[in-house]
Amino acid sequence: MEQNTLNTNVSSFNVDHTKLKCGLFVSGKDMLDSGLVLTTFDLRMKRPYHDEPMTTGSVHATEHLLADYLRGDDLWGNKILYVGPMGCRTGFYVMMSGDLGSKDILPLMIRAFDYISDFDGEIPGATQKQCGNYLDMDLEQARTDAAIYYNVLIEAKKENLVYPVKREKKKTNKGAL
Ligand SMILES: [Zn+2]
Repeated sequence: MEQNTLNTNVSSFNVDHTKLKCGLFVSGKDMLDSGLVLTTFDLRMKRPYHDEPMTTGSVHATEHLLADYLRGDDLWGNKILYVGPMGCRTGFYVMMSGDLGSKDILPLMIRAFDYISDFDGEIPGATQKQCGNYLDMDLEQARTDAAIYYNVLIEAKKENLVYPVKREKKKTNKGAL
C-alpha cells in the first residue's frame, strides 16, 4: 500500500504529453518490500507530436548501445536494472536502484549519448544468437539521434528535467471570512 503513495507523486500518468519537451525525467518511483527504492527514468529523445518518432532501426541500435554502455559504467553500472525503448518510439525507460533525481544521472547520460553519437564498430549483442531481430539496426540514424539528444542534455533546463505537471487551484477559506 505504501508503494502507491510513492508512485502518485511522480507518475507519468499525470503528464500531459502534448506539453512534454525532450529531456531526462523521473517517470516513477517504486518501493520494494525491503524498503529499497527504484527510480525509473524517462529519456525522452523526441518531443511527442512535434518531432518525428525514431525509426525502429535507430531505436534498436540505440537500445543495444545504451544498455551496454550503462551496464558497463564504473560508477553506475551496478545500479542499472533495466533499459528499454518506449513503444511510441520517442524515448527509453531506464530503471535504476536508488532514490534518484534527474540531476544525479545527467552526467552519466551525457557520457552515454556522447559515446553513442561517436560510436563506430560492431554493435554489442547484434548477432542472431543474442538478439531477436539483429538486422533491424540503423547505426547511422542512431548516431544522429544520439547527437541531437546529447545537445539537449548538455544545455538542460528545468523544462528538460522536470515533467510538466498539471496544477490545480487550491481550495481556500476566503468565502467564510
Ligand atoms: Zn536486439
